[in-house]
Amino acid sequence: MNPVIQAKGLQKSYAGHRVVDGLDLAIHKGECFGLLGPNGAGKTTTLRMLLGLIAPDAGTATLLGLPVPQAAREARIKVGVVPQMDNLDPDFTVAENLLVYGRYFGMQDSEIEARIPDLLEFASLTSKRDAKVPTLSGGMKRRLTLARALVNDPDVVFLDEPTTGLDPQARHLIWQRLNALTQQGKTLLLTTHFMDEAERLCHRLAVMDNGRIISQGSPRHLIEQNIEPQVVEVFGETSGAWANEHGAIFAQRHEVSGESVFCYVQDAQPLVAHLQAQSALRYLHRPANLEDVFLKLTGREMRE
Ligand code: ADP
Repeated sequence: MNPVIQAKGLQKSYAGHRVVDGLDLAIHKGECFGLLGPNGAGKTTTLRMLLGLIAPDAGTATLLGLPVPQAAREARIKVGVVPQMDNLDPDFTVAENLLVYGRYFGMQDSEIEARIPDLLEFASLTSKRDAKVPTLSGGMKRRLTLARALVNDPDVVFLDEPTTGLDPQARHLIWQRLNALTQQGKTLLLTTHFMDEAERLCHRLAVMDNGRIISQGSPRHLIEQNIEPQVVEVFGETSGAWANEHGAIFAQRHEVSGESVFCYVQDAQPLVAHLQAQSALRYLHRPANLEDVFLKLTGREMRE
């Protein structure tokens, strides 16, 4: 089966700086694919090229089998977009926002109105149908933006940081809805800074940095490929001194970050037994996760 979204050798520069640098991607029907990377990695620029909103300097992309940006208008008839910032119309009610958006796709009002009850139910906004946008909470606005992206019954949905700024309850509700969409066979491409979100939602992920994909695969594959299976975090004022003396003895790899030492190990038992006898130190023993992979691949320094 042909990929729903495909990129080959995509490149884009701004002011002589290459922000997307030879990107290859193939995303298949029904997949939830996550694009991860620190700020400035080139994720949004990649999404914009895949949507055909901007032209690459080199390389090719197809969306639902159509070349973009050349046939972007045609392709986007079956595409939904949840942008990073909610851009709902504040003068309109919840239902009116859906109606107005549907018209951009050339849909008849009667056709849109027939879809509105289901869209509101999907977004848990049925009781807010006639509420004006400024009266909605952040989570409600985000759900309305998601409902709006579904007005044209898209096959593919692009989501740029869909849960940034939401509280845990609101994030969990969005996750349920996104899972429901993939179960319906829709293809999702999302960016996120939340590694737990990526681990939960995405079938496959690509980690980007400096415009390139540096690792790609299922969350489990990325963890197995890149990192030791167990992590012991050691905390306390003396953790730095402890790391100097014992880090290399007990851990395959360790990293000091402030007063925390992250020890990456195949077998945590010898280290845990040792730490139990160190009264000045606290520790947390846990399985390795996607955040460990992300920090290993992209580093701990702040970006932008
Ligand atoms: P990310 O989404 O991963 O944070 P972006 O794709 O937004 O990264 O940005 C990648 C780099 O490209 C950044 O350094 C950003 O400042 C730059 N950039 C993005 N869009 C433009 C633009 N329209 N003009 C100039 N520079 C841009």
